[in-house]
Amino acid sequence: MSHTFATEDQVRVRVPAKINLALCVGAQRHDGYHELATLFQAVSLYDDITVRASEELVCEVRGEQAHHIGPGDENLAYRAARLLKNEYGVSEGIHLTIDKQIPVAGGMAGGSADAAGALLACSRFWDVDASLEDLMALGSRLGADVPFPLMGGCAVGLGRGETLTPALSRGTFHWVLALSSTQLSTPEVFQRFDELTGHHPPPTTPEIPRELMMALTTGETKRVGAQLINDLHEASCSLAPTLPTTIRAGVELGCHGAIISGSGPTVAFLVDSEQEAQHLGELLTSLEVAQRTYHAVGPVPGATVIDDHRPHGHLMDPVPA
Ligand code: ATP
Repeated sequence: MSHTFATEDQVRVRVPAKINLALCVGAQRHDGYHELATLFQAVSLYDDITVRASEELVCEVRGEQAHHIGPGDENLAYRAARLLKNEYGVSEGIHLTIDKQIPVAGGMAGGSADAAGALLACSRFWDVDASLEDLMALGSRLGADVPFPLMGGCAVGLGRGETLTPALSRGTFHWVLALSSTQLSTPEVFQRFDELTGHHPPPTTPEIPRELMMALTTGETKRVGAQLINDLHEASCSLAPTLPTTIRAGVELGCHGAIISGSGPTVAFLVDSEQEAQHLGELLTSLEVAQRTYHAVGPVPGATVIDDHRPHGHLMDPVPA
């Protein structure tokens, strides 16, 4: 018997970007990665991953930045779908659509977010028996930053950043994200970090400052802002020399703290309210120290199913004419 797919059968997942409130870099390990201690916060800048039935594995990227990312094996979401399919012995294919808003190579783990979103969307669509923990474990095989967007909220990441423990956090933080027209490659930033720290190797076991963890539990923006830390700061600035100007402008305009997210070049400025965020965002763009700004709040939940029209039993018999 031949089968047709109902056109409305789809699952859509919304997945957040992250910023790092702390990124403490330790010594290089034997596998080439650095030992990290990082404090992630999921923020309200999202990619949407929509899946629908297909004989093959197909991936499509939409949005202004789509041209930066390939649709095939080079796409982390495509690889995530294939990994889940193989791991759970799924015979069907899937059509993945990525609606991209998270900046590409911006230090906000957009590729990892898409992989996390694809894992959740495909697992739902194929109805595989995978818990959130199972998906996070699969995700960590794709990349160190993949488990966190599944978890969301605030979390401490150790190892390569993939060993997660939820972190206590109070209230909602308002961020102005200064998006850059340039991109930074994470491996290149770490390479520059190694060059810069050559004579003073970092500690074997990095630690997140205790005062930052304490400040987060109080929700006091001034305290949190004063403790933000990124050990990649110098390395990112040396590869993107306009970054210090952007950061200085936000600080002079009165934010409570500024931090390069991950390896950059996105800069996150902490303020007290949506109104302040909008004001600062407008000033930063009018001063031309940011290509575009975005008001985001955090922490927000991890990958979430926002539309669920699953095929019943996956395949539907054709409707008799
Ligand atoms: P991180 O903060 O995790 O180091 P990033 O935010 O700096 O990452 P990404 O946007 O994740 O960077 O992109 C890093 C590289 O991954 C890009 O140069 C891109 O070629 C590749 N990539 C693969 N799949 C995707 C995807 N779905 N979205 C964005 N980039 C992707």
